[in-house]
Amino acid sequence: MKIALYPGSFDPITMGHLDIIERSAKIFDKVVIAILVNPRKEPMFSSEKRKEMIEKCIVHLNNVEVVVSSELTINVAKKYGADILIRGIRAVADYEYELQQATTNMALDSSIETLFMVSRPEYSFLSSSVVKELGRYHCDLTKILPGAIIDEVENKFR
Ligand code: ADP
Repeated sequence: MKIALYPGSFDPITMGHLDIIERSAKIFDKVVIAILVNPRKEPMFSSEKRKEMIEKCIVHLNNVEVVVSSELTINVAKKYGADILIRGIRAVADYEYELQQATTNMALDSSIETLFMVSRPEYSFLSSSVVKELGRYHCDLTKILPGAIIDEVENKFR
């Protein structure tokens, strides 16, 4: 059974993340989304709230689950039996950071592979930060957020 781990902050999950999740779910037997708690970032949504929001967006995918962890990514992967890490690449700007992360993980554990999946062009500008920035100005979020969580995110800015 091929299990892939998709780690990130998902603060909140966007259409860009969901697209990567749906495409990965077609390739792997199981996809584990890992909400990694980053002590350097002050999140807008608690990790439990982020988990709840992701779960609302993946009800149509029966081989995807969500976990929360503050451990090192490769240890989370091992814990859930994943030997593949999925990362989305939006633009060249992502590449340098992702390359550093991937080679670090490779040095830590060569049995875990990182696979990069390119973003769909319509989501290549999209990040959780863009959602927060637009939400603050009460912009329309329907094209960038999964329908299941729009109300929740909009309420946060009211
Ligand atoms: P961000 O805060 O940048 O939105 P995360 O830390 O939650 O993202 O990212 C988790 C993973 O999802 C990363 O590999 C990131 O590159 C990827 N990702 C984020 N947004 C998109 C998008 N719009 N399209 C494809 N991949 C994305």
